Amino acid sequence: MNLNLTNKVILISGGAKGIGGAISRGLIEEGAIPVMIDPSEKEGAAILTLGESFQIPIRLFEAIDSEKAVKLTLEKYGRIDGLVNNAGANDSVGLENGSPEAFEKSVAKNLNHYYHLAHYALPHLKLSKGSIINISSKTAVTGQGGTSGYTAAKGAQLSLTREWAVELLPYQITVNAIIPAEVYTPLYENWIKTFPNPEQRLAEITAKIPLGKRMTTPEEIAAMAIFLLSDKAAHITGQHLFVDGGYTHLDRAL
Ligand code: NAP
Repeated sequence: MNLNLTNKVILISGGAKGIGGAISRGLIEEGAIPVMIDPSEKEGAAILTLGESFQIPIRLFEAIDSEKAVKLTLEKYGRIDGLVNNAGANDSVGLENGSPEAFEKSVAKNLNHYYHLAHYALPHLKLSKGSIINISSKTAVTGQGGTSGYTAAKGAQLSLTREWAVELLPYQITVNAIIPAEVYTPLYENWIKTFPNPEQRLAEITAKIPLGKRMTTPEEIAAMAIFLLSDKAAHITGQHLFVDGGYTHLDRAL
């Protein structure tokens, strides 16, 4: 299938590592140009060697950070064809093990830049009839415990996906969310290491993933993202797409 992504300029927050890194790599394979907004310079440099791509090594937080990222992209390429809101981290700010200040900061750092980037990229997505993808998390629909800030942000990302899909209908901009569950990335590795016996915990989790009793790979999330960014997905909007080996919905007794 020809996805017609040649020379399409795609912004990806957190695009140098983990799921975002796999999306950047996959886009290069398709002839598209990923713009990685990600402070991870070593991992970004490795992707830059693979083909036309660009890194903006900043950590998004304030609106001005996203405004700057969009401005730098336009100065370099003059267009934006897609946005993948992906940067985030499960930072374990819970009800009991948290505080109002920590909660507010966790929500802000996991959510606000999704809005900021979409806001500043929008005039350019209107010109390209581009698409937006929000990477959320299954914790938004199942809960996890001990991580109120992260799940609040992830749930809001699903709401915004529907809200923006409606608002952007007149411009033929599609907006969809991808919901991963268990994907082995640097973030996941850091999280699993917080358990007293990480290997045993990992084995317990993978044993509960119905399809193949294995983790989803970052490349499998990337494949869905790249399809949604392509014009083959032009009539898909407002969807929450679970790429999780059946983890969220299939019978737990499996
Ligand atoms: P990852 O391995 O940590 O990669 C994310 C990249 O984004 C890192 O390079 C990170 O840099 C960067 N980053 C983080 N915050 C940023 C910010 N504010 N501005 C710019 N760059 C930032 O994470 P991942 O596992 O690929 O997760 C990607 C997305 O998938 C997240 O939204 C996460 O919630 C979601 N997700 C992941 C899983 C999973 O199983 N892995 C499951 C459900 C949902 P630093 O390392 O320097 O922070």
